[in-house]
Amino acid sequence: QPQNAADVRALVDEHDIRFLRLWFTDILGQLKSFSINAAELDDAFENGMGFDGSSITGFNAIEESDMVAVPDPRTFAVLPWRPTDQGVARIFCDIHTPERTPYEGDPRQVLRRALDRAEQMGFDTFNVGPELEYFLFKDNKSTEVLDEGGYFDLTTLDAGSDVRRETVLALEQLGIHVEYSHHEVGPSQHEVDMRYGPALKMADDCMTYRITVKEIAMKYGWHATFMPKPLFGENGSGMHTHQSLFKDGSNAFYDPDDQYFLSDAGKAFIAGQLKHAREISAIFAQWVNSYKRLVPGYEAPVYVAWSRRNRSALVRVPLYRPGHEQSTRMELRCPDPACNPYLTFAVLLQAGLEGIEKGYELPEPMEKNLYHLAPDDRKRLGIEQLPETLGEAIEITAESELVLRTLGEHMFNRFVEIKRQEWDDYRVQVTPWELDRYLPVL
Ligand code: GLN
Ligand code: MG
Ligand code: MG
Ligand code: MG
Repeated sequence: QPQNAADVRALVDEHDIRFLRLWFTDILGQLKSFSINAAELDDAFENGMGFDGSSITGFNAIEESDMVAVPDPRTFAVLPWRPTDQGVARIFCDIHTPERTPYEGDPRQVLRRALDRAEQMGFDTFNVGPELEYFLFKDNKSTEVLDEGGYFDLTTLDAGSDVRRETVLALEQLGIHVEYSHHEVGPSQHEVDMRYGPALKMADDCMTYRITVKEIAMKYGWHATFMPKPLFGENGSGMHTHQSLFKDGSNAFYDPDDQYFLSDAGKAFIAGQLKHAREISAIFAQWVNSYKRLVPGYEAPVYVAWSRRNRSALVRVPLYRPGHEQSTRMELRCPDPACNPYLTFAVLLQAGLEGIEKGYELPEPMEKNLYHLAPDDRKRLGIEQLPETLGEAIEITAESELVLRTLGEHMFNRFVEIKRQEWDDYRVQVTPWELDRYLPVL
């Protein structure tokens, strides 16, 4: 892995790279890119590359739109789906203002700030392991599936085997280690799991993963989508996010003497995410469609509780290797793979740290299937529910001091404005469901 500009220069020569794509991310987690001639590389490292940021969603409007992309040499990688001679590489950038200060509207910066807070509290590494699920469809105009396979199916039913294999190989060429890949529960639904790693690298890797999955699917003439709930009546696509904090190489969540093998810090961290789940929901589930996934019956969480086994809970503490320090972690099951991974990891970390700093108490685990609990029982047990719509979620976020602090004022205001607009666009629609249901009888 390159560490500095000189390492990158050597790799550019070695791999005959002619074009460098400078990558960054907008407020909604869409990948943005412009290409520079490899000959500009030294200049890019020294001075950054200027660009007009006025049309980037969430960035400043025209008055102050001169932005500078500053490449991060550790993120250099050759793009495997481009030609091998006169090739193309990508490099992630931090966005700076013309005064060369980190730009508050840059999602990478938001995550860096959250990591600084963790560092100040004595945690040098925030490890995350996201499991991104997706569907393969025949094209991007319909939801025609390629197979009727289900969870872990390995038969001719799994038409995606070859494309999944090629995706894994492409990810590894991009420096992303893949641990698992399999057919998921839904027809034509897949999951490729990256090995966990430090949050900033993982957020970059999520961006790379999404474009790689799409590029390889397109090679086969198919369309890959991370839309949270494309098919009514089937599982949606989640991005379960495994998390742990490390201090000098040891897992701060681990306590060999605790009944759950969880330290006080681990428990308080989980408590923080539970307590703040509703107000950060608009970040990890940011689309109108995200809330079609977060409904009972499809292995997606709805109720704010934790558990060791039960997959209907928001947080699970997996039992694969109980008492094994390295793998002690929590799994948050509500994020979806169409989120902005930088903002999501940032807000999860800040919510968890809040729990540690303020000493939140972790409630008892809920081992029952929460989908089956009657509303009155849930109330009696004090179990809250995630917002049911983007409209509800964004209004809770708009009141959140934690999200304001995490995103910073500039991004917070833009985010709330953009999401209110999205909800307003949606809520005035007259849907096929309404016409089917009402037109014949009303
Ligand atoms: N697709 C489910 C979700 O929406 C998860 C299913 C699984 O990984 N077992 O989160
Ligand atoms: Mg999985
Ligand atoms: Mg899965
Ligand atoms: Mg999982």
